[in-house]
Amino acid sequence: MRILNPQITQILTDTESHPPRAWEERGLVAGSTHPVARGRAVDFQRSKGYGYALFRGEEVIMRQPLVAGNWKMNGSVGSVRELLAGIKAGIGDIDKCEVAVCPPYVFIPQAQAELAGTPIPWGGQNLSTETSGAFTGEVAASMLLDFGCTYVIVGHSERRTLYGEGDALVAKKFAVARAAGLKPILCVGETLDEREKGVTEDVVARQLDAVIKLEGVRALADGVIAYEPVWAIGTGKTATPELAQEVHAFIRKRITDQDAEVAKKVRIQYGGSMKPDNAAELMAKPDIDGGLIGGASLKAKDFLGICKAANDSI
Ligand code: PEP
Repeated sequence: MRILNPQITQILTDTESHPPRAWEERGLVAGSTHPVARGRAVDFQRSKGYGYALFRGEEVIMRQPLVAGNWKMNGSVGSVRELLAGIKAGIGDIDKCEVAVCPPYVFIPQAQAELAGTPIPWGGQNLSTETSGAFTGEVAASMLLDFGCTYVIVGHSERRTLYGEGDALVAKKFAVARAAGLKPILCVGETLDEREKGVTEDVVARQLDAVIKLEGVRALADGVIAYEPVWAIGTGKTATPELAQEVHAFIRKRITDQDAEVAKKVRIQYGGSMKPDNAAELMAKPDIDGGLIGGASLKAKDFLGICKAANDSI
């Protein structure tokens, strides 16, 4: 078979790593118009989060799951040392899923020192829209870069609700992060009230469209989207895999309508009370590409359990 795209690193057969049924569940079937899939055989380009493969003569884009820990305002020098040591001790078994941590700002230099030489990237939980100057308490994108950050979370629901960050400001943060060379993790999601009113899709579309309007749809491929239903964050109430998949598919379809290539590449994480015992079911859904993890990212064993589930999903 002639490989036209030099980035294709593998030719997959349907028995290579999964039984054919598993491939079909992921929409990877002959003649599929949306041959998006994930697979263990692809050598993911770490910096991109996706790879290429050939499956039954069709070029497919395969997304690499990303599990990122959002530590929020938790930790001390001692607990960070212990947590990172635990994650490093267990990361050897996780060879296909990308694993990242987002500590509070003050622990980023410690994360940089302790994660040097590991495959684990780190990031910030927020950033300023300004580059420097009289903005007390703020941290600029360039400062995150100075300390080796790869990712930065923007628009987390706690920033939106507790600190009044609106769609336009979040979009600006996405743009500033992207321009600096950081990968923004854009959080979107509805409150319980919005879900009960039946406006989940309107809310998620509005949050997504703010970024698309400012930056264009192609910008999304430089970042990651995290669907985090606000009612599931830190509450112990996880969205069912079906419900989460519904919203993930809605997000991907909205992007597909504007740029199918971007939609195939962009990773959409789920976030909201994900734990080792519910992670596998969520990760098995075709449009769920990893997780943004709060509470469970503070214990190495729980976090690694989720990473393992993501790793085994591809
Ligand atoms: C989060 O804060 O991004 C989050 C998903 O939190 P938790 O996992 O604790 O619900």
